Amino acid sequence: MRVENDIKLGFKDVLIRPKRSTLKSRSQVDLNRTFHFMHSGREWRGVPVIAANMDTVGTFEMASALAQHGMLTAIHKHYTEEQWSEYLSDATDDFYHRIMVSSGTSDSDFEKLNRILTAHPKLYFICIDVANGYSEHFVAFVAKVRKAWPDKVIIAGNVVTGEMVEELLLGGADVVKVGIGPGSVCTTRVKTGVGYPQLSAVIECADAAHGLGGQIISDGGCTCAGDVAKAFGGGADFVMLGGMLAGHDESGGELIEEDGEQFKLFYGMSSATAMDKHSGGVAEYRASEGKTVKIPYRGSIAITIQDILGGTRSACTYVGAAQLKELTKRTTFIRVQEQENRIYT
Ligand code: 5GP
Repeated sequence: MRVENDIKLGFKDVLIRPKRSTLKSRSQVDLNRTFHFMHSGREWRGVPVIAANMDTVGTFEMASALAQHGMLTAIHKHYTEEQWSEYLSDATDDFYHRIMVSSGTSDSDFEKLNRILTAHPKLYFICIDVANGYSEHFVAFVAKVRKAWPDKVIIAGNVVTGEMVEELLLGGADVVKVGIGPGSVCTTRVKTGVGYPQLSAVIECADAAHGLGGQIISDGGCTCAGDVAKAFGGGADFVMLGGMLAGHDESGGELIEEDGEQFKLFYGMSSATAMDKHSGGVAEYRASEGKTVKIPYRGSIAITIQDILGGTRSACTYVGAAQLKELTKRTTFIRVQEQENRIYT
């Protein structure tokens, strides 16, 4: 039996050490990044925060709101082709750089993806998403999509280790999505015992990806703006958010009223709720690996966006990073036993 003994860290295990800085205000910090993608050869500029491709988060309404801030939305895969056409009927060229088309890896997913991309040739990002990115079938699927769409930016995931990041990048992905089990409505770690603390996964996978000229997305596990800053500090090129963006007007999910209080339903994409909705129930061979929760209704996404971007900018000023790009090299993590003072929470 082999046990790896070096400690793996989650966001809750560290804080970022402050450093001398010449920046006067957080307004001086630029959160835009420019990336050059290794296979498609294309360039992208924007604020690298992405709404997750969950049907409660990656909605068209979310995309319209986040695009105003230069952010991205991975549109969930359950919209019909007619809905896509209607939504994109008056889209600007820039808007195509703010959305991703999501796909699973079945034959029908591939056919639907092809039809959407053919109907809307300006679409720029493809997000190929499976819970377990370690299968040969997945790697072969990524290669097939790359062959069909050489000039699209392809994102593939999820994995948590450097060697698999390399395999996916070499197999045709431009960007690899990292995270197994950290999600707010994910139960994979409980149901299977499999997972990897997210910050260590990010640090190790970023190193592997950057060595080849690729990028990574830290997907899942951010509970507050500070976690987003830690993910970027650890080397993530992009950060994907589910729960932090749920519960708003722009989010999907039913609005429920109970005893005068309003809630929105939020659920994992492999929860029984999602499977009932999209695949006619939980298939017999698999357990559901997602929760369904009710979260307090939070109104418009605008305030939450401000909170996330403001927090990230502020983190940059604490370490003297004038641009988000500099945050990683200016970050020193300290291991801690405590985060915030919880006496009044
Ligand atoms: P959050 O930001 O809410 O912590 O994490 C969002 C991420 O959780 C998503 O982008 C996706 O990778 C993951 N996720 C979403 N639904 C499920 C699910 O049902 N099961 C699992 N294991 N992960 C999920």
